Amino acid sequence: MPLIQSIEVCSVAVPLDRVTSFSNRTVTHRHYGLVKVHSADGQTGIGFCYVGSSAGGLFTAAVEQLLALVLLGQDSHAVEGLWARMYQEALLQGRAGTVMRAISALDTALWDLNARSAGLPLHRYLGAYELESVPAYASGGYYLDGKTPAMLGEEMASYVAMGFKAVKMKTGRLSPAAEEERLRAARDAVGPDVELMLDCNNGWADVTQALQYMRRFERYDPYFIEEPFSPDDVDSHARLAKLTRVPVATGEIGYGRWHHQELLGKQGAAILQTDAAVCGGITEWRRIAAMAAGHGAVMCPHWFHDLHAPLVAATPNARYVEFFWDDQVLNFRRLVDRQLQHRGGRVVLHQDPGLGFRFDEQAVGKLASWTRVDGSAA
Ligand SMILES: [Mg+2]
Repeated sequence: MPLIQSIEVCSVAVPLDRVTSFSNRTVTHRHYGLVKVHSADGQTGIGFCYVGSSAGGLFTAAVEQLLALVLLGQDSHAVEGLWARMYQEALLQGRAGTVMRAISALDTALWDLNARSAGLPLHRYLGAYELESVPAYASGGYYLDGKTPAMLGEEMASYVAMGFKAVKMKTGRLSPAAEEERLRAARDAVGPDVELMLDCNNGWADVTQALQYMRRFERYDPYFIEEPFSPDDVDSHARLAKLTRVPVATGEIGYGRWHHQELLGKQGAAILQTDAAVCGGITEWRRIAAMAAGHGAVMCPHWFHDLHAPLVAATPNARYVEFFWDDQVLNFRRLVDRQLQHRGGRVVLHQDPGLGFRFDEQAVGKLASWTRVDGSAA
């Protein structure tokens, strides 16, 4: 029986090779929270999340002090029950932020552990819609010092040359005119038939400011405008969605099903980018995806393609995996021992049990050390 015997946890700060900017923030390091859940019969499931550009120690504290003790000694198949118990245990500290991300990582590790125990790749264990590969878009178009619109266009065209039929770029950092110039360069470079997505990373304060940009952007036929406002400002998302013909996408830092229910109910997003490593794990992500299906909304989950490829494969109303072809932005890629491959604009699914990869212990060990929680001190 897969009783949970011990849990290992660490947080890892991985430096970016090059300082990289979004609409309103600049990143030099990325902190990731990692967990390994070991069962008494010798299986190990892994889970992980992004915890921001600082303070990764909050993650390890949440696992060590709050959540691990809920799981130790329990049957890993009781995923729904363990989710409810973790959520209840962290009701005062959690529900959002780093504690919910810690719940997400542990929940992911339970699914991975159980799929490995069953000898099935995660997408088949969940009940696959796609068996071999899933559609993906190439994510990039960041702001770097000295990067011109022409260079942005070359970058976007390079993804199309790799076979991607959909590409994404950042927006919202510069003036409306300067952003229009970047978008025009990208559209000219990829041609009219490629789906071109825009990510604003919470860059705009209100609908008036957003419209100054969107009025210029619409003629370039963006596939969606992502995260125009702060995630909690659901009403502004809904108002913008009514005022522009470009679909609104958001949800990557949305926590729990109730936030997403509000977004859907107010028609604040046609596309949910819910991140299973943020929202409450695979368990909560699937609840949200099912709710979105009832609203005619589609799922395009946020980064961590290693985690989201199997979820997209098991979800009929999922449209795309966000794919990072190198390790410059999603430098989590440096912490795992196996990379997903892409072909013809699709990500090829791992067919080994569970997530199909493990942490690269040498890479992790250079940056952090694991702490083991086994309940013996309790
Ligand atoms: Mg985004």
